[in-house]
Amino acid sequence: MSSYLFQRKIILDHSITPFFIPTKNHHESIVLAFVGDMLLTLEATIQLPSKEELARLGKPLHTYDIAKSERHTFSLHLWEENTLVPESLQKTNLRSVLSNVPEELFEPLNRAKQLVHWLQDNQFCGRCASPLAYSPMMSSLKCTQCGYMTFPKLCPASIVLITRGDEILLARSPHFAQGVYSLIAGFVEAGESAEACAIREAKEEVGITIKNLRYFATQSWSFPHSLMIGFFAEYESGELCLQEDEIEDAKWFTKETMPQPPYSTSIAYRMIQAWKEGRSH
Ligand SMILES: [Zn+2]
Repeated sequence: MSSYLFQRKIILDHSITPFFIPTKNHHESIVLAFVGDMLLTLEATIQLPSKEELARLGKPLHTYDIAKSERHTFSLHLWEENTLVPESLQKTNLRSVLSNVPEELFEPLNRAKQLVHWLQDNQFCGRCASPLAYSPMMSSLKCTQCGYMTFPKLCPASIVLITRGDEILLARSPHFAQGVYSLIAGFVEAGESAEACAIREAKEEVGITIKNLRYFATQSWSFPHSLMIGFFAEYESGELCLQEDEIEDAKWFTKETMPQPPYSTSIAYRMIQAWKEGRSH
């Protein structure tokens, strides 16, 4: 119980209230500026550009207030991908700088990035191909002809930390950085529960049956629109049998033999840390 509360505290410390409203007052908000799906920063830093610097790019394609924290309102300003950017600014891949992002910007930037993908992918109605326009209901866009509504896409994915006595199962995908191992994870299928997904992924990816699933925490992960749902589980039966293409290696490790962990900003990292500190039960 105490570990669960501890995790909630970590995650909720900098929680935002999300909304989606056309920007009215440019002077009161922190602007998260994107050109295409790239974040604009001052050259070689994670510092956000000033409004004066952004004015040099011309009028943005979209300007929305998207969230507020206890202290700030955050606006998303989005320019088209081919917009010319002044030399003083840099187009930055958010994922590559995530570990340097100040904690209070982590959630707003995650939300901004997901809304950027959503706005780019939903310019026209999927039913009648007419243009979509802003709608004041929650975060939504509405078809100007048939009224069809679309909401930001969220793809839930289960991630599971599997233990066997004092060992932990870690695996690596071919696309991981060299030497990095992480937890078993996969997308929830339509009609499937997150728990059933964790059990299925363990069976499919490494051939084992797991038991005693316990909820850990969730994390928004905007690359491009995942919601990670973390569980701890115990090994029940089966020999390791790796799914071709998905998993290139998987092993049981102890705290003494741990390989390189995943990104420090990921829920996988936090789950592995919790297990190392004995907070998994
Ligand atoms: Zn339509």
